Amino acid sequence: MKKYDYLIVGAGLYGAVFAHQARKRCKTCLVIDKRTHIAGNIYTYNCEGINVHQYGAHIFHTNNKEVWDYVNQFAEFNRYTNSPVANYKGEIYNLPFNMNTFNKMWGVVTPRQAKEKIEQQKSAAGITAPKNLEEQAISLVGTDIYEKLIRHYTGKQWGRPCTELPAFIIKRLPVRFTYDNNYFNALYQGIPVGGYTRMVENMLGDTEVRLGIDYLENKAQLDALAEKTVYTGPVDAYFDYSLGALEYRSVRFETEVLDTDNYQGNAVVNYTDGETPYTRIIEHKHFEFGTQEKTVISREYSAEWSVGDEPYYPVNDDKNGKLYAEYKTLADREENVIFGGRLGEYRYYDMDKVIEAALTVAQKEFGIK
Ligand code: UDP
Repeated sequence: MKKYDYLIVGAGLYGAVFAHQARKRCKTCLVIDKRTHIAGNIYTYNCEGINVHQYGAHIFHTNNKEVWDYVNQFAEFNRYTNSPVANYKGEIYNLPFNMNTFNKMWGVVTPRQAKEKIEQQKSAAGITAPKNLEEQAISLVGTDIYEKLIRHYTGKQWGRPCTELPAFIIKRLPVRFTYDNNYFNALYQGIPVGGYTRMVENMLGDTEVRLGIDYLENKAQLDALAEKTVYTGPVDAYFDYSLGALEYRSVRFETEVLDTDNYQGNAVVNYTDGETPYTRIIEHKHFEFGTQEKTVISREYSAEWSVGDEPYYPVNDDKNGKLYAEYKTLADREENVIFGGRLGEYRYYDMDKVIEAALTVAQKEFGIK
């Protein structure tokens, strides 16, 4: 008999949901994390009374009522609606691409005029079947918007030109012919009052958590503690990069406390020109309608990733997709190990999808929802 039923590697969202479901079935779990805090990349900490999203802004949104009800057990969500603005050399445009954006760009007023404008630009560019992000973007919103709001921002974010990126990345963004600046089409949206860390803390409940422990460095010893492992770290690291390293994009944040109560008037401002070195500035207080005297901002720089850096975004292109498929074959052969989450499954997962995936796996394990 081993001491625990499950060893959960990673105290992020996937691990915490799995732990919560396991506990409902009276299973014993040990959660470990390499970092010295829980909550993975959704970790928030308090600074000047403001919840700071240390690893980048996270805005919860979902169409899945089950997931929405699930998270609401652990936190109350506010009514925050993500409406980023783009700053292109001092010109301000609303995002996602909608009638406000089209009106500012072209002076068009009706949806029909906007569609005509896009159609003209699309046919001038001669695109019929878009085969990369650039062509996809132009066929969705035309050349002007592509040049001012997409080309450089995407290039900075992914460190490669739009012609070398898959079309699906841009499909994450809605294009709307209404005057609606809500970035997400989701039915439910908000930020957990009191921060994400507290939400994850509530998910973990009284599950034993040990922080600052590197699983891969103490693998044999830790595996001996539990019947099964739930691994949410990078899948390639698990196999010691034996087939080569999967690529990620990393992000670096420059966070500052400023002696002003309102720096930019919005939680998210994207800098879509090529010269500004950062991709966006987050002003954290606006996620919770903060009225503190000071403010905290983070400039977000996209960075190349190499083994040892913090992995953020999986690069889901063909090359990495094929390599992941090979790792997946190895992962499937690991008996008693469940690979989950953004790093364990090498997927550009939103939070709700992470929860959905963890709930599905937990249901298979425990036969309950
Ligand atoms: N994007 C863009 N301009 C913007 C915002 C987004 O071109 O001002 C594109 C860019 O290619 C990016 C993708 O849309 O990679 C998805 O953006 P999203 O904001 O969903 O990325 P995330 O918030 O996950 O970093």
